[in-house]
Amino acid sequence: MMFNSRRQLITVTLTTALCSSPLLMAAKSPFWTKLTIPNDAPAQAIGTYQAGCLAGGESLPPNGNGYQVMRLTRGRFYGHPNLVGFIKDLAGNMDKYNIGTLLVGDLSMARGGPFVSGHRSHQNGLDVDLWYNLEKDRPLSLHEREALGAYSLVASNGRSVKPRLWSQNHRQMLKFAASNPNVARIFVNAAIKKQLCKSKTSADDGWLRKIRPWWGHADHFHVRMKCPADSPQCKSQAPIPKGSGCDKSLDWWFAKHKPVKPKKPTKKPAKPKPKLPYWKQVKLPKACSRIFRAKSKYLH
Ligand SMILES: [Zn+2]
Repeated sequence: MMFNSRRQLITVTLTTALCSSPLLMAAKSPFWTKLTIPNDAPAQAIGTYQAGCLAGGESLPPNGNGYQVMRLTRGRFYGHPNLVGFIKDLAGNMDKYNIGTLLVGDLSMARGGPFVSGHRSHQNGLDVDLWYNLEKDRPLSLHEREALGAYSLVASNGRSVKPRLWSQNHRQMLKFAASNPNVARIFVNAAIKKQLCKSKTSADDGWLRKIRPWWGHADHFHVRMKCPADSPQCKSQAPIPKGSGCDKSLDWWFAKHKPVKPKKPTKKPAKPKPKLPYWKQVKLPKACSRIFRAKSKYLH
């Protein structure tokens, strides 16, 4: 992993200072969050999206042509070079076609691994959350990047997009993203998929099938890259079903969400056992413990 600029290195150092954590934890520690510098190795995505890690992570600079990274203090701006390249390409296209500035949410941590809060995936440097806010090209301050919220494009009944906020620019942004050959799938709220299906022609089927309806994802979309050729230990997901996905499988999302009358409890429920958080339960591939322990030339 290389720092592309002095500013990037400063950002990483700043992030580390803000988190006030030691740069490398003892091997026993499960806190991948504390590893704020990538290991010095060729880039490789390891394991699955939900149980994996990242070797030789590349950091996405906080600003670039057509994009800005949000929530910098979380230190979740590392990815496999395919992911970082994808974000830069998408932002470049958005800039070229005047779609708006791309606001980038979480990628992975410096060495991947499970987050202690938020999503279960984003572990092997191949996932990113992108916001629907299409800001004008205005540099956001560090404070704004922490405080500004992502807006939801979905109406409160969950059945359609908000006409006031939805625009052709959102459609174009999703089309650019899904048309990238390295993208495996994109998760969006079902109401957003429905909106895209409304205006589709058969020429859209190729990219539209990669856009998958999922719970949540009303205020951001989640892009998942394919396993890269340089990552033999990366495990792919099952392939996407054929067709555009603008069919009965999409209707299911809306039928399922009809309000259901709650049942009266027959007897007092037993006290549930305390459940371990996901990041404590998840079993990572063996290779990840080596990556966890590895030193970095930036520290020694
Ligand atoms: Zn996500």
